[in-house]
Formats: sequence, structure tokens, C-alpha cells
Amino acid sequence: SETVHIIGAGLAGSEAAWQAASAGVRVVLHEMRPDRMTEAHRTDGLAELVCSNSFRSDDAANNAVGLLHAEMRRLGSLIMRAADANQVPAGGALAVDRDGFSAAVTRALQDHPLIEIHRGEVAGLPPVDWSNVVVATGPLTSAPLADAIRSLSGEDALAFFDAIAPIVHKDSIDMSRAWFQSRYDKVGPGGTGADYINCPMTKEQYDGFIDALMSGEKTDFKDWETNTPYFDGCLPIEVMAERGRETLRHGPMKPVGLTNPHDPTVKAYAIVQLRQDNKLGTLYNMVGFQTKLKHGAQQRVFRTIPGLENAEFARLGGLHRNTFLNSPKLLDRQLRLRAQPRLRFAGQMTGCEGYVESASIGLIAGLYAAADARGTALAPPPSTTALGSLLGHITGGHIETIDAGPRSFQPMNINFGLFPPLANPPTRKPDGTRLRGNEKTVAKKQAMSARALSDLDRWIADHLRVAAAA
Ligand code: FAD
Repeated sequence: SETVHIIGAGLAGSEAAWQAASAGVRVVLHEMRPDRMTEAHRTDGLAELVCSNSFRSDDAANNAVGLLHAEMRRLGSLIMRAADANQVPAGGALAVDRDGFSAAVTRALQDHPLIEIHRGEVAGLPPVDWSNVVVATGPLTSAPLADAIRSLSGEDALAFFDAIAPIVHKDSIDMSRAWFQSRYDKVGPGGTGADYINCPMTKEQYDGFIDALMSGEKTDFKDWETNTPYFDGCLPIEVMAERGRETLRHGPMKPVGLTNPHDPTVKAYAIVQLRQDNKLGTLYNMVGFQTKLKHGAQQRVFRTIPGLENAEFARLGGLHRNTFLNSPKLLDRQLRLRAQPRLRFAGQMTGCEGYVESASIGLIAGLYAAADARGTALAPPPSTTALGSLLGHITGGHIETIDAGPRSFQPMNINFGLFPPLANPPTRKPDGTRLRGNEKTVAKKQAMSARALSDLDRWIADHLRVAAAA
């Protein structure tokens, strides 16, 4: 079989190399450190964790990232094996000794007879004789490679990061205060005239909100972020507020073209709009609310918005450099660049967010690359699994909104909002009594987890065991 070349030995590239080699394929893994470092990495270890040492919740029954852990373990993940072997106490979370973790990954890859580790930057498009490549160079991809990929895939293709707006779980929005309506009931392509969720504010609420925005704690730019350009029209909301108390009322929060059906006689002083963020309609983003506020401040300030008092956030806003592809447009379902299918992408570059998510996309990219190398085809993981849901987000699960552009695709952590709904959501407890309030949400998550694990087991039995035996 042909050799798979993997560029970048971070979370995704290390897992991809392990999976491809475990499937019996020869791998060359290219890592630029320590010859060239990134702005965030400190060591020459493979799979270095650049910031926190947490893989987040390990609760597979109740938490989407915990479920992703469980799925990866069933798929023989090296990243999970190294994390489990280097665990430090962290309540329900899986946290690791970062040096022990990185050393375990490095050792396993070095010791694998089918893996060759090559230290050095790939400073441009890979040589043409590399016919099967996984690019897993992460959010801090070196400039020559990023430039080459950008010119290959067209302008705007690689987003050099800006600010992002928070995303809210729809079922946590209080629709007795908020309502569905598009401004002036405008019907766009694929729209209904009621595409937005609107949250009204009185003058007092607006004034309090502006004060809270301006006094909220902000994250500082790191040195290397100060030169990163903003996209036009994408200023953080607190920066807009600083330009004048009324700026937001005349911008993203303008109260025009909307009538509150709960109280049609009262004219709102300002209105916050949320726009559908995924095809399933389970997630909504806060329009124009890109922000650099610290996460705690965001939750506090945004929950003062009428209708969002109990909002659950699928992701909070943020601002940092990030290199990622507009994947739904540029990649095929197998993560290959349409413009040059020998190049497959993995990790944060594809538009997932987080250590675990990046590693999981590395895992599936490694399996796809191995199948290609052996001249076989691998069926995609079921869309009901955490891995399949995340893959769906990346390769096209995201809706084209009315004003869709490359910016409508944003990196995302795994969360239950990305999963297809249950055919029969649970309504009763095992003893027959009705589930109430939060119990329903808990039961729904548990049912989604159980569905995911049984569907994954079937996929493994049908496709991976067979492939391994072939
Ligand atoms: P990486 O793990 O960054 O791996 C990419 C690898 O490619 C690196 O080893 C790099 O040296 C190498 N490389 C780059 N260019 C080249 C080249 N041209 N040739 C050869 N090698 C190259 N996620 C969390 O879950 N928790 C956090 O606390 C967290 N903090 C973050 C902090 C920062 C500053 C950033 C930028 C991101 C953070 N993330 C965090 C998000 C993300 O999950 C991690 O960045 C994650 O490591 C991404 O995995 P990856 O494999 O895609 O990229």
C-alpha cells in the first residue's frame, strides 16, 4: 500500500498516524518543532497541550465530550490511552499530566514499526509524489503552508481569526418572552419570514446592559495576536459599545421592523436577535455579539437579556488567531480538499474546536487515509454518534443562512445540539411517572448517548473488523 504522509504531530496528527499505522499502513509523520516553534507551543513533544490540561467531562452518559471520549476509546485511540494513563484528579473531568501525556504519545509513535517521525517544517504544498497526505497543522499552522493552502483553495478560504459570537441551545431560550420573526418579515432564500429569535429590551434594561458590557472583564491580546487583522464589520460588541451608548441600538440591536406578539403595544428600545446556526435548528447564534469578554462575564451579562435568563451556551464568544478552512465548501465528506483530493485535513484546521475534538477528527482522517492507501472504501461513522455529528458539522451539516458567506462556518466544540433528534424522545421514567423540566433534558442526553454507543459498536463490527481481517 502507499505511504501516508501526515503533516503536524499535534493532537490530530498524532492520532491520525496511530490509526493509519494500526490499520497496517506505512506512515511518515512530519513535525516542525523544535526547528520551528509556534507562538503557543513550548516543547518538542508530540501532542503538546498548549493551554489547559483538561479533556473536559468524562461522563459519557450525560455529556457530549464524555461520549466522544468513550467512542474514541472503543476505536483504540492513542490520545485517549495516553490520557487515561496520565490522569490527574479533576472531579468528573479527565485532566492529565501534560508532560507525561505528551511523552506517552511520543513514545508510542516512535516505537511503532510502521511510523517514521521526520522533524522539519513542510514550508509550502507537499511534494507532488506524496499522493496521500493528511494536513493536521492546527490553529497555528506555519505561514508558508497556510499561504500555499490559501492560494490553492481560493481567497478567504483560510480564515485568519477574528471575533466570534456565542451560540445558545434553542431549548434554553424562554419563548414566552422571545419570539420568532425576521425584520420586516423579510423572506430570504430558504427562509420563512420568521427566521430569527428576538429578545426585547426596555430602555432601563438596555442601559444596564451597556454598563455591564463596558465594565465586564476582557481577555487581553497575546503579543502574537495584536497583528492579526479584524474582519471588517466584525468588531467585538464591547468595542462597539465604547464608541457610544447608542451605537448598538443603531447597529445589531436596532429595534426596527419587529413587533413583539407577547405585547404588541409596547415598542422595544433595543432587540437582540439570534439566528439559526445548524441545520437541525437546535442551536442559535447571537447576531453581532462577537466578543472578547471573559467567559464568566459573558454568561453573567448575556443572561440579563430578556428571554436568555436561563440560556445554555453551546459555545461562548472569543477572539484569538485561528487558521481554519471553510470546510463545508472546500472539503468532501471524507475530509479531502475538493481542489486537490490527495490532501486530506484533520484537527482544528477543519473547524472543530478543542483537544478532544481535534484528536477525534484526526482519528477518522487516519482511518480514511489508511482505507485509501489500501485501495478500499470506509463507510462514514453513523451520524448519531458524537464522531459522526462532529463530522457532519464540518463537512456540511451547517445551514447556509440568508447572508451566508465563508464566515457563517465557525469552529465548534462537540455538543448535543449537533446530534440528530431522537425518533422517540423519552417522556416517562422507568417507573412510568412523567419526566419533568430538567429531567427531560437529562433523559434525552442519556438516550442520545446510548443510541450513539450502540450505533458505533455496530459500525465497528460491520466496517472496521472486516477491514482489519481483509
Ligand atoms: P496542534 O495540536 O496545534 O498540532 C499542530 C502541529 O502541527 C503542531 O505540533 C505544530 O508544531 C505543527 N505544524 C504547524 N505547521 C507545520 C508545518 N508547516 N510543518 C510541520 N509541522 C507543522 N483546546 C482545548 O481543548 N483546551 C485549551 O485549553 C485550548 N487552548 C488553546 C490555546 C491556544 C493559544 C490555541 C491556539 C488553541 C487552544 N485550544 C485549546 C484549541 C485546540 O484544541 C488546540 O489548539 C489543539 O491542539 C488543536 O489540535 P491540532 O492537532 O489541530 O493542532
